[in-house]
Amino acid sequence: MAAYDFETHEYDVVVVGAGGSGLRATLGMAEQGLRTACVTKVFPTRSHTVAAQGGIAASLGNMGPDSWQWHMYDTVKGSDWLGDTDAMEYLAREAPKAVYELEHYGVPFSRTEEGLIYQRPFGGHTTEFGEGPPVQRTCAAADRTGHAMLHTLYGQSLKNNAEFFIEYFAIDLIMSEDGVCQGVVCWNLDDGTMHVFSAKMTVLATGGYGRAYFSATSAHTCTGDGGGMVARAGLPLQDMEFVQFHPTGIYGSGCLITEGARGEGGYLTNSEGERFMERYAPTYKDLASRDVVSRCMTLEIREGRGVGSEGDHIHLHLNHLPPETLAERLPGISESARIFAGVEVTKEPIPVLPTVHYNMGGIPTNYWGEALNPTETDPDAVAPGLMAVGEAGCASVHGANRLGSNSLIDLVVFGRAAAIRAGQVVNAEEPSPRVNSASVERAFDRFDGLRNASGGVRTADLRLELQKTMQSDAAVFRTDRTLGEGCQKMKSIAGKMTDLSVTDRSLVWNSDLMETLELTNLMPNAIATVVSAEARRESRGAHAHEDYPDRDDVNWRCHTLAWTDDHDTVRLSYRPVHLDPLTPADEGGIDLARIAPKARVY
Ligand SMILES: Cc1cc2nc3c(=O)[nH]c(=O)nc-3n(C[C@H](O)[C@H](O)[C@H](O)COP(=O)(O)OP(=O)(O)OC[C@H]3O[C@@H](n4cnc5c(N)ncnc54)[C@H](O)[C@@H]3O)c2cc1C
Repeated sequence: MAAYDFETHEYDVVVVGAGGSGLRATLGMAEQGLRTACVTKVFPTRSHTVAAQGGIAASLGNMGPDSWQWHMYDTVKGSDWLGDTDAMEYLAREAPKAVYELEHYGVPFSRTEEGLIYQRPFGGHTTEFGEGPPVQRTCAAADRTGHAMLHTLYGQSLKNNAEFFIEYFAIDLIMSEDGVCQGVVCWNLDDGTMHVFSAKMTVLATGGYGRAYFSATSAHTCTGDGGGMVARAGLPLQDMEFVQFHPTGIYGSGCLITEGARGEGGYLTNSEGERFMERYAPTYKDLASRDVVSRCMTLEIREGRGVGSEGDHIHLHLNHLPPETLAERLPGISESARIFAGVEVTKEPIPVLPTVHYNMGGIPTNYWGEALNPTETDPDAVAPGLMAVGEAGCASVHGANRLGSNSLIDLVVFGRAAAIRAGQVVNAEEPSPRVNSASVERAFDRFDGLRNASGGVRTADLRLELQKTMQSDAAVFRTDRTLGEGCQKMKSIAGKMTDLSVTDRSLVWNSDLMETLELTNLMPNAIATVVSAEARRESRGAHAHEDYPDRDDVNWRCHTLAWTDDHDTVRLSYRPVHLDPLTPADEGGIDLARIAPKARVY
């Protein structure tokens, strides 16, 4: 047994993660007087949310007619009929409230002439249940919306006396013998001390696992730590096969050019100078949803119409737009294009390529953010003491494909919902739980084992092997052959986890050890992704399977559950999609016939 001294902290709620979802949850908990700690491995305003450019979707109707029912319809269709209907209704219905709250907290949104919140068009967002023209629904603070949100939410959380533990790395959940989450074990990166947080509710807001792929728009810190902790606690991950590729990562660096660029009038061309999206999506063209645009770009490249000396990418044009629009609405991406592609957007097109951008899958939850531990008899059973919000969670509102600007709204709607729910289920009068010491010891043992790992494989080398395998075998185009190979290769990579070598044994800012802990989290996320993808014999949303090109609602309109208790074995099971809305049609809810499955064309 590894002996580490630790300090114990007792709270009503501990939130792991200080991105948009973690901060919104923290703020909501603290506002109600719950004693709340927020633990984060990076400084709050450096969380990946800071990079969100385009904006946040809500049917405010500031730029023309809109309604939450239209937003819900678009989300259902965007999800390719895999999202949970109750959660999608909750998202669309609560979105305007959540955005006005942000406005009142102080987010400096861009404004219309009349002083209203400015809204721009985004892919897949339409009017009249997909029959009308594109809608301007995406609220924006120039092209720095996530940045503005994080700074505002952090300030408000401090004002409400939430306590922050910054540069604390959460290692593992503390679970009681009967499966109740009792808090989390953390390592203070800055001084090497160890900490046990005992809490009545633990909220995982740890973000996505984009870094399981070689080319990703997400920060290097997006390593799926929450999913890793959940998998080790014996709980499942859901719908991991659905990984979103953003159509416009800058060729080479992967740095994102927001969809807002196409929202403002940008368009894509192939080597023949053709605006090829007109051929694939005659109505919405370059503003079709992301999976569709990414697939069309990949097709153009595969058929020999890519641009550049290797014919391996596509051009994004903004050079026809008025320079004032670019300067006012897209200043950040003009700068990114200059730095990362050496391109002056007012004069030349930007070289772009579909790049991993978002994980639809994650820790299964209900629409209150409560984590699920589905059983044969109860597919909606709650895992007591545990919640998950933001990209780490899967409510599931994005189903098989997320619409642009629907993540930022997911962060605040479900961060807020988790706080409302915690207000109902957490009793502030009760003492914090006496944590299960065996569970704490297991976390220290695992940590100590990695700290002293003296095998033959360097963390950085194994991570690269993992990333390249995922990139080549579990990307935009998938076949039985690539996925089968992917499963084999990932199993062999997972086998090498016991042969890792860590050279630095110190406890203070040991980045070698931290990256090794992160690799142990990337691993279960990645293997669950490829195994879940291999099993799903249909095409739906981001999961485009060349051997099964059609969606199969009879057999596959269900959520995948994947348990990866140890590194290289994955057990799969399935749970039904929620088909019932929260509000009946005769009380103003959406007419179910409207959202019945049909072919998804844009
Ligand atoms: C470049 C880019 C642009 C985007 N633009 C948009 C957009 O315009 N609109 C939109 O809707 N969506 C956008 N998205 C998606 C959206 O920004 C993300 O899905 C969202 O910000 C994720 O927020 P989060 O709160 O879940 O996690 P993050 O913001 O990723 O934060 C994760 C937090 O968890 C903490 N953490 C993680 N692991 C640990 C650990 N082990 N211990 C302690 N702390 C830990 C981190 O410190 C961090 O604070 C974009 C994404 C990218 C990558």
